[in-house]
Amino acid sequence: MLYTQSFSKLIDVFRKMPGVGNKSAVRMAYYILSLPTEEVDDMISTIRAAKEKIGYCSLCQNTTEQEVCEICSNPKRDKSVICVVEQPKDVVALEKTREYYGTYHVLHGCISPMDSIGPEDIKIKELLARVADAEIKEVIMAISPSIEGEATTMYISKLLKPFEIKVTRIAYGIPVGGDLEYADQVTLAKAIEGRREI
Ligand SMILES: [Zn+2]
Repeated sequence: MLYTQSFSKLIDVFRKMPGVGNKSAVRMAYYILSLPTEEVDDMISTIRAAKEKIGYCSLCQNTTEQEVCEICSNPKRDKSVICVVEQPKDVVALEKTREYYGTYHVLHGCISPMDSIGPEDIKIKELLARVADAEIKEVIMAISPSIEGEATTMYISKLLKPFEIKVTRIAYGIPVGGDLEYADQVTLAKAIEGRREI
Protein backbone atom coordinates (compact mmCIF):
# COMPACT_ATOMS: atom_id res chain seq x y z
CA MET A 1 0.00 0.00 0.00
CA LEU A 2 1.29 3.41 -0.99
CA TYR A 3 -0.18 5.28 2.00
CA THR A 4 -1.21 4.24 5.49
CA GLN A 5 -4.92 3.73 6.09
CA SER A 6 -5.41 7.00 8.00
CA PHE A 7 -3.50 8.94 5.41
CA SER A 8 -5.59 7.50 2.58
CA LYS A 9 -8.72 8.49 4.46
CA LEU A 10 -7.39 12.02 4.90
CA ILE A 11 -6.64 12.25 1.17
CA ASP A 12 -10.19 11.10 0.44
CA VAL A 13 -11.60 13.92 2.58
CA PHE A 14 -9.83 16.52 0.46
CA ARG A 15 -10.48 14.78 -2.83
CA LYS A 16 -14.21 15.18 -2.23
CA MET A 17 -13.87 18.96 -2.18
CA PRO A 18 -14.90 20.81 -5.32
CA GLY A 19 -12.09 21.53 -7.73
CA VAL A 20 -9.55 19.40 -5.85
CA GLY A 21 -7.84 16.67 -7.83
CA ASN A 22 -5.80 13.76 -6.59
CA LYS A 23 -2.47 15.60 -6.56
CA SER A 24 -3.77 18.57 -4.60
CA ALA A 25 -5.53 16.24 -2.16
CA VAL A 26 -2.26 14.45 -1.43
CA ARG A 27 -0.48 17.78 -1.02
CA MET A 28 -3.11 19.02 1.44
CA ALA A 29 -2.90 15.79 3.42
CA TYR A 30 0.88 16.12 3.76
CA TYR A 31 0.42 19.74 4.75
CA ILE A 32 -1.94 18.74 7.57
CA LEU A 33 0.61 16.22 8.83
CA SER A 34 3.29 18.88 8.88
CA LEU A 35 1.24 21.24 11.07
CA PRO A 36 1.55 21.47 14.86
CA THR A 37 -1.33 19.74 16.64
CA GLU A 38 -2.73 23.07 17.95
CA GLU A 39 -3.07 24.40 14.44
CA VAL A 40 -4.93 21.31 13.32
CA ASP A 41 -7.22 21.66 16.36
CA ASP A 42 -7.86 25.30 15.42
CA MET A 43 -8.74 24.29 11.91
CA ILE A 44 -11.15 21.62 13.10
CA SER A 45 -12.92 23.98 15.50
CA THR A 46 -13.19 26.67 12.79
CA ILE A 47 -14.87 24.19 10.47
CA ARG A 48 -17.18 22.98 13.23
CA ALA A 49 -18.11 26.53 14.31
CA ALA A 50 -18.89 27.54 10.72
CA LYS A 51 -21.04 24.47 10.27
CA GLU A 52 -22.88 25.10 13.55
CA LYS A 53 -23.38 28.85 13.25
CA ILE A 54 -24.17 29.29 9.60
CA GLY A 55 -27.69 28.54 8.53
CA TYR A 56 -30.15 29.77 5.93
CA CYS A 57 -32.09 33.04 6.07
CA SER A 58 -35.73 32.28 6.80
CA LEU A 59 -36.74 34.58 3.95
CA CYS A 60 -34.24 34.40 1.10
CA GLN A 61 -32.48 31.13 2.03
CA ASN A 62 -29.06 32.73 1.69
CA THR A 63 -26.40 31.72 4.19
CA THR A 64 -26.47 33.75 7.39
CA GLU A 65 -25.68 33.54 11.09
CA GLN A 66 -28.98 35.19 12.00
CA GLU A 67 -32.62 34.23 11.58
CA VAL A 68 -32.97 36.83 8.82
CA CYS A 69 -29.90 37.81 6.76
CA GLU A 70 -28.38 41.29 6.51
CA ILE A 71 -29.81 41.95 3.06
CA CYS A 72 -33.38 41.00 4.01
CA SER A 73 -33.21 43.03 7.22
CA ASN A 74 -31.66 46.10 5.56
CA PRO A 75 -34.35 48.84 5.39
CA LYS A 76 -32.62 50.34 2.35
CA ARG A 77 -33.19 47.27 0.19
CA ASP A 78 -36.24 47.21 -2.05
CA LYS A 79 -38.34 44.35 -0.68
CA SER A 80 -40.68 44.43 -3.66
CA VAL A 81 -38.02 42.99 -5.99
CA ILE A 82 -36.67 39.47 -5.66
CA CYS A 83 -33.73 38.21 -7.69
CA VAL A 84 -33.75 34.41 -7.92
CA VAL A 85 -30.34 32.70 -8.03
CA GLU A 86 -29.05 29.16 -7.79
CA GLN A 87 -26.41 29.42 -5.08
CA PRO A 88 -25.23 31.74 -2.29
CA LYS A 89 -22.10 32.45 -4.35
CA ASP A 90 -24.32 34.07 -6.98
CA VAL A 91 -25.56 36.56 -4.37
CA VAL A 92 -21.96 37.48 -3.67
CA ALA A 93 -21.28 37.95 -7.39
CA LEU A 94 -24.35 40.18 -7.85
CA GLU A 95 -23.64 42.16 -4.68
CA LYS A 96 -20.18 42.97 -6.02
CA THR A 97 -21.77 44.82 -8.94
CA ARG A 98 -23.28 47.32 -6.43
CA GLU A 99 -26.05 47.85 -8.98
CA TYR A 100 -28.80 45.87 -7.38
CA TYR A 101 -30.86 47.10 -4.44
CA GLY A 102 -33.59 44.49 -4.23
CA THR A 103 -33.55 41.22 -2.30
CA TYR A 104 -32.61 37.70 -3.35
CA HIS A 105 -33.94 34.20 -3.26
CA VAL A 106 -31.45 31.33 -3.27
CA LEU A 107 -32.79 28.10 -4.73
CA HIS A 108 -29.83 25.93 -3.71
CA GLY A 109 -29.72 24.14 -7.03
CA CYS A 110 -31.63 23.65 -10.24
CA ILE A 111 -34.25 21.22 -11.38
CA SER A 112 -32.29 18.36 -12.92
CA PRO A 113 -34.10 15.10 -13.65
CA MET A 114 -30.74 13.53 -14.65
CA ASP A 115 -29.51 14.00 -11.08
CA SER A 116 -32.98 13.24 -9.64
CA ILE A 117 -33.38 16.81 -8.41
CA GLY A 118 -37.04 17.76 -8.64
CA PRO A 119 -38.81 21.06 -7.90
CA GLU A 120 -39.45 19.94 -4.32
CA ASP A 121 -35.70 19.48 -3.73
CA ILE A 122 -34.87 23.16 -4.18
CA LYS A 123 -36.33 26.24 -2.44
CA ILE A 124 -39.21 26.92 -4.83
CA LYS A 125 -42.07 26.68 -2.36
CA GLU A 126 -40.27 29.13 -0.09
CA LEU A 127 -40.15 31.55 -3.03
CA LEU A 128 -43.85 31.11 -3.74
CA ALA A 129 -44.63 31.70 -0.07
CA ARG A 130 -42.74 34.98 -0.20
CA VAL A 131 -44.50 36.10 -3.35
CA ALA A 132 -47.87 35.19 -1.83
CA ASP A 133 -47.06 36.91 1.47
CA ALA A 134 -45.51 40.20 0.57
CA GLU A 135 -46.08 43.01 -1.90
CA ILE A 136 -43.78 41.80 -4.65
CA LYS A 137 -43.65 43.82 -7.85
CA GLU A 138 -40.96 41.96 -9.76
CA VAL A 139 -39.13 38.65 -9.74
CA ILE A 140 -35.85 38.63 -11.65
CA MET A 141 -34.67 35.20 -12.74
CA ALA A 142 -30.86 35.19 -12.65
CA ILE A 143 -30.18 31.53 -13.25
CA SER A 144 -27.38 30.32 -15.49
CA PRO A 145 -28.63 29.51 -19.01
CA SER A 146 -27.70 25.82 -18.87
CA ILE A 147 -30.30 23.19 -19.82
CA GLU A 148 -31.18 22.69 -16.15
CA GLY A 149 -31.14 26.43 -15.53
CA GLU A 150 -33.49 27.08 -18.43
CA ALA A 151 -35.88 24.38 -17.25
CA THR A 152 -35.85 25.85 -13.75
CA THR A 153 -36.44 29.41 -15.02
CA MET A 154 -39.38 28.26 -17.14
CA TYR A 155 -40.86 26.13 -14.37
CA ILE A 156 -40.75 28.96 -11.85
CA SER A 157 -42.05 31.62 -14.22
CA LYS A 158 -45.04 29.40 -14.96
CA LEU A 159 -45.75 29.08 -11.23
CA LEU A 160 -45.51 32.85 -10.85
CA LYS A 161 -48.01 33.58 -13.63
CA PRO A 162 -51.11 33.53 -11.38
CA PHE A 163 -49.61 36.20 -9.13
CA GLU A 164 -49.66 38.71 -11.96
CA ILE A 165 -46.32 40.24 -11.14
CA LYS A 166 -43.55 41.23 -13.50
CA VAL A 167 -41.21 38.28 -14.12
CA THR A 168 -37.98 39.15 -15.88
CA ARG A 169 -34.74 37.38 -16.63
CA ILE A 170 -31.23 38.67 -16.94
CA ALA A 171 -30.17 38.40 -20.52
CA TYR A 172 -27.21 40.48 -21.41
CA GLY A 173 -23.80 38.95 -21.95
CA ILE A 174 -24.00 35.90 -19.70
CA PRO A 175 -22.45 33.10 -21.77
CA VAL A 176 -24.61 30.04 -22.36
CA GLY A 177 -23.68 27.37 -19.84
CA GLY A 178 -21.80 30.06 -17.95
CA ASP A 179 -21.62 30.38 -14.22
CA LEU A 180 -22.78 33.71 -12.72
CA GLU A 181 -19.81 33.56 -10.41
CA TYR A 182 -17.36 33.84 -13.31
CA ALA A 183 -19.07 36.68 -15.14
CA ASP A 184 -17.25 39.93 -14.57
CA GLN A 185 -18.98 42.69 -12.61
CA VAL A 186 -19.66 44.93 -15.59
CA THR A 187 -21.24 42.05 -17.52
CA LEU A 188 -23.38 41.15 -14.53
CA ALA A 189 -24.44 44.74 -13.94
CA LYS A 190 -25.44 44.99 -17.61
CA ALA A 191 -27.25 41.68 -17.32
CA ILE A 192 -29.49 43.07 -14.59
CA GLU A 193 -29.97 46.32 -16.42
CA GLY A 194 -30.89 44.53 -19.66
CA ARG A 195 -33.37 42.11 -18.10
CA ARG A 196 -36.47 41.39 -20.13
CA GLU A 197 -39.89 40.15 -19.28
CA ILE A 198 -40.66 36.43 -19.59
ZN1 LIG B 1 -32.33 36.89 3.55
